[in-house]
Amino acid sequence: MTEAEIIRNVQTVRENIVRAAEEAGRDPAGIRLVAATKMNDASAVRAAIAGGVDICGENRVQEMLEKQGQGAYDGVPLHFIGHLQRNKVRQVVGLCELIHSADSLPLLEEISRVAGNRGLVQDVLLEINIGAEDSKSGFSPEELPEALERAALLPAIRVRGLMAIPPVCEKPEENRPFFLALQKLFVDNSGKKYDNIRMDFLSMGMSADYAEAVRCGANLVRVGTGIFGPRHYT
Ligand SMILES: *Cc1c(COP(=O)(O)O)cnc(C)c1O
Repeated sequence: MTEAEIIRNVQTVRENIVRAAEEAGRDPAGIRLVAATKMNDASAVRAAIAGGVDICGENRVQEMLEKQGQGAYDGVPLHFIGHLQRNKVRQVVGLCELIHSADSLPLLEEISRVAGNRGLVQDVLLEINIGAEDSKSGFSPEELPEALERAALLPAIRVRGLMAIPPVCEKPEENRPFFLALQKLFVDNSGKKYDNIRMDFLSMGMSADYAEAVRCGANLVRVGTGIFGPRHYT
């Protein structure tokens, strides 16, 4: 992809988000576009930022630190969206504005411990295994209320909402039940009054299905291929 193509792709994705939001009677201004930048180099990431993405989201700590050293993300906030190992928490806390993928209590505890040591409060989303897949991590919907109770006791994290990656589907409409289930979980658990829990972000939808996710209430969508083209796994 050339830089011009990446910029054009961002504009197309943005237009699709606006259309989906309007179809659902939502204000498009409330929906943030996260460029899922894994396996794309600093110049591609800069093109996406020039195209107007709101946020960059990375999956791997090492790759993120390399690109950050190259100034790849300058101008937009950085989020962590991939599976995070506990021994890598130190490198992510404070650098990333939001961790989308807090998928277990031990990970939440480690994030809080590291952030607390540095005098920070780290914003996180709880990842939900919405399709109950063995291959995916995350809290089950049934576990969520207790996870929130436990998270409420951790002084240096703030839970800002939920994230999920639904099962791989043939057609975007097939993910609709999962998106709706996550949206319901988000709403049902928003009323609880804990000081460090503020359910304001619902992170769902990727290249194949972000429009469907927006129609179902997403306000953070994570788009990689739709911006950068296919990733080249070598
Ligand atoms: C790679 C990735 C995306 C983007 O996937 P595409 O299908 O390329 O848009 C979104 N979210 C997460 C967590 C990812 O790892």
